[in-house]
Amino acid sequence: MTDRRSFISSIAAGSALASLSGAALLSQAACKQAPPAQESAIPSVALKLCLQEGVAPGETLTEKLDFMEANGVAGLEIWGGGLEKRIVEITGALKNRNIQVGAICAGFSGWLIARDEKNRKECMETSKVILQAAGALGSYGMILVPGFNGQQPSLPAVEARAILIEYLKELGEFAMQQKTTVILEPLNREEAWFLRQVGDAASICRDVNHPGITCMGDFWHMTREETSDMGAFISGGKYLNHVHIASRKTRNTPGEDEGDNYVEGFKGLKMLNYQHHVSFECGTKGDKKIVIPAALNMLNEQWAQA
Ligand code: MG
Repeated sequence: MTDRRSFISSIAAGSALASLSGAALLSQAACKQAPPAQESAIPSVALKLCLQEGVAPGETLTEKLDFMEANGVAGLEIWGGGLEKRIVEITGALKNRNIQVGAICAGFSGWLIARDEKNRKECMETSKVILQAAGALGSYGMILVPGFNGQQPSLPAVEARAILIEYLKELGEFAMQQKTTVILEPLNREEAWFLRQVGDAASICRDVNHPGITCMGDFWHMTREETSDMGAFISGGKYLNHVHIASRKTRNTPGEDEGDNYVEGFKGLKMLNYQHHVSFECGTKGDKKIVIPAALNMLNEQWAQA
């Protein structure tokens, strides 16, 4: 059904076109065909690598941060569960260091596409507690998965998307008040049936249309679900504000699987002028103190090639 506003704007567009003279239309067509005066160069973008707290070696947060600092890691990603009780500890450990909280990884309970409103409300309430702590720590955002496969019963896809958008409007507004965001994460089909591709997450962001709602891509899930790393990131566009990375066959440290390559994805990130973190969410096969520095070097080299 055509609503009144789009009807009026289509009339306005039609009359604007009719009022242009033939010469003006010709000159517009010529403008479209003229080559650009100068090729626009892709701006130089720095690769900001980040480690999840559990990935960094060390017994304490301070030891982990010492390792990260010594290896030029720019960001720390922290689990969201109980985060509100750790603000003093984390703020103290980060003091006088050049490391930022890149993101808060989930930690809420309930889920937003649940059939039962009680489960949706539980997700809203527990997410708000984490978002408040995320804001206090200066985190760019809190990662949210709308529903895992094991979370049942969930709403059917069309209904789920509609209700999710309504909840995200409220959660995005709350996040912005706390000076942080909600970051939607697509997962592979074995973990989540509802949201699997970066472009789909970005289309939800577009429909919510609130600066507090953004999305991310995880190379591990993308390996399974996307046809192109570069295409996936580009389809995330301005909504793409966090990235997870792991080896591509076994979800260990990048470089621990033969042929681990991220260059095409990095090209996409550079095209977006991506300013946020690329964060390790992975296990390890070898000694962390050896394989993580090797991975950081390899990723910096692949970034330079992209
Ligand atoms: Mg992930």
